Amino acid sequence: HITFCLVLFSVFTFNTSLMAQQNFEKQIDSILNLMTLEEKVGQMNQYNGFWDVTGPVPKEGNAAEKYEHLKKGMVGSMLNVHGVENVRKLQELVVNESRLGIPLLFGFDVIHGYKTLAPIPLAEAASWDLEAIERSARIAAKEAAAVGLNWTFAPMVDISRDARWGRVMEGGGEDPYLGAKIGVARVKGFQGDDLAAPNTIAACAKHFAAYGFAEAGRDYNTVDIGLNTLYNIVLPPFEAVVNADVRTVMNAFNILNGIPATGDAFLQREILKGKWNFDGFVISDWGSVGEMVPHGHAENLEHAAELAVKGGSDMDMESTAYVTHLVDLVKAGKVEEKWVDDAVRRILRVKFELGLFEDPFRYCNEKREKERLYHQDHLNGALDMATKSIVLLKNENDLLPLSKDQKNIVIIGDLADDKNSPLGSWRLASDDNTAVSVLEGLHTYTKNYTYVQGPKIFDDKADFLHHVKVHDSTEGITEAVEAAKNAEVVVMVLGEHGFMSGEGRSRTNLNLPGKQLDLLKAVHQVNKNIVLVLMNGRPLTITWEAANIPAILETWHLGSQTGHAISKVLFGDYNPSGKLPMTFPRSVGQIPIYYNHYSTGRPVEQPNVFWSHYGDESNKPLYPFGYGLSYTSFKYDDLRIDSSDPKNINVSVTVANTGKVKGEEVVQLYIHDRVASIVQPVKKLKGFKKIMLAPGETREVTFTLTDAELGFYDQSHNWVVEPGTFDVMVGTSSVEGLSESFTLK
Ligand code: BGC
Repeated sequence: HITFCLVLFSVFTFNTSLMAQQNFEKQIDSILNLMTLEEKVGQMNQYNGFWDVTGPVPKEGNAAEKYEHLKKGMVGSMLNVHGVENVRKLQELVVNESRLGIPLLFGFDVIHGYKTLAPIPLAEAASWDLEAIERSARIAAKEAAAVGLNWTFAPMVDISRDARWGRVMEGGGEDPYLGAKIGVARVKGFQGDDLAAPNTIAACAKHFAAYGFAEAGRDYNTVDIGLNTLYNIVLPPFEAVVNADVRTVMNAFNILNGIPATGDAFLQREILKGKWNFDGFVISDWGSVGEMVPHGHAENLEHAAELAVKGGSDMDMESTAYVTHLVDLVKAGKVEEKWVDDAVRRILRVKFELGLFEDPFRYCNEKREKERLYHQDHLNGALDMATKSIVLLKNENDLLPLSKDQKNIVIIGDLADDKNSPLGSWRLASDDNTAVSVLEGLHTYTKNYTYVQGPKIFDDKADFLHHVKVHDSTEGITEAVEAAKNAEVVVMVLGEHGFMSGEGRSRTNLNLPGKQLDLLKAVHQVNKNIVLVLMNGRPLTITWEAANIPAILETWHLGSQTGHAISKVLFGDYNPSGKLPMTFPRSVGQIPIYYNHYSTGRPVEQPNVFWSHYGDESNKPLYPFGYGLSYTSFKYDDLRIDSSDPKNINVSVTVANTGKVKGEEVVQLYIHDRVASIVQPVKKLKGFKKIMLAPGETREVTFTLTDAELGFYDQSHNWVVEPGTFDVMVGTSSVEGLSESFTLK
């Protein structure tokens, strides 16, 4: 075996090292020629790993069987194996003992960092800072590549308009334009220019498609949406990352208009691999091939394997459907071998690009592993990203920033002293209470504070697999109120536990869990000078809070450097610059609520006329998409449109910092196509720029609108730009700015 493998390697090594961005098709042809059908199917099989494989052959569950399959070349990839020692052991097993020695791919959910944790993706999206987001993904890639991994299951580019869905924390929010830009930045960060470099890994755009539209925000649930929404809202971020060369795509658990995404040839073959020419491979979601049985689409696991391959799913994550049935399906003539060959070609292509044929152990470097995890540069990067992700929602009478010699600050809240929750959901490698807590962060700035926990809200035992237990006790409120009475300012750290959002974490209430609102109201009775620091993984319905509390900071779950980032903002060492990537509803009953909605035939409130509204709640959101304040103020002037060249419409505006401190502003451009063959949303984000202005400084900001911004997918799913009048708004959020219009002939 070993001799054979060496021969195989020397053939490919020679060629791969000659060319940098090479075409591997010839080598792939030769390997395919050598492969038996069983070995081909093996490449299409991914198994979940064992947390520690360094010991003797694992005995638990079907681990021993997996081990045998690895030796026989019946496995193409592993997930959840990490640590150089573990990866090396399995890679050696496969490379030395299987007949062809084709190296394994090692995948892992590196969603917002490996050990050093950046803010959750929704928080990063609030920065609207594409360079920072790219840097943050690169840090994650560096740490992941250092522990032997070569593939992350990120970015999630699912658009969602429903904050009840816990997985909104993993995405870029509600808007396809912003979502596409962020998705591309993250793919660039993970993959870089050279996939085989020691600081990059392959990315995976997920979940294809429409998983974010699960009914009523219930995870894994039914998706039934029109093709207009599919083409114009759901697919654009996927198309953008495919154009940016994302190497893999993961499909989804949900059915889309009656067909499980995993078996949907329209999505995977016609659109993704056909229209978009995607040449990487598609991985199923965890067990999603098998889930086509309970969905009622496949009769049994064998049938599921048949439908999934035909539907364009190249690799089966943990269903064991392919490894068990695909060989027989091909032999019986139910699945054409060309589909198997096509899938294997795609998988081998990515392995070549990652440099695994050149050196299957290139990701296994103990020295690098030791040096890289929690590297100071990474912690600095995480801090920078965290400060940029914070959104200032309210700041009456300039209560913030606090002065560094402010006396008598009282900090209240269970979450202020928590080193676990701020890490947020999805941190499979870093569940070890390593966040800098708010209290620890504050300590760097001042010793003039008292901490009172108030009621215990969350169970400390929460983790990725176990739901967070919320205590309903009021014990501790009295003590908190007593302490707050004489405080100059009260900082209350309230919100959701980090594990209340993420996969399988849907909620029907979007309020502060437990007795946190009671606590807040009780403190407010005795002291109005409250700064509310919110930690949460999704928009919350903080309607009372917004009406009554003078200063509110949205800090999401900011990762490893949480306490430092929040303190920097509280004390004015960083001027908040984030903007909401998702609408905050006033109440759950308003959901779905999003800024780029359509107009009705009765758009305007009129007395004695029925119009589209609720009897008991406004149509308006609590905080709109794109909203966020600063410690300084910005003034927009002089909006001009030059439409003399219809292919390049130039829009410019001047923005001035009219306040006393320097600050960053996200200048946002929205368009509205007034009349169209497919009715267009009242507003669509089509440009944004984040600029830093010194006090008194004025800058001209210019945007260019081309067909790519002005068009939409029409009824035949073609991109069209229709003549007519367009309104343009440029401003500080989706609801505040200067407006002008132009006519496209
Ligand atoms: C999730 C995916 C994830 C996979 C592997 C699934 O449950 O939906 O997003 O990548 O598990 O952990």
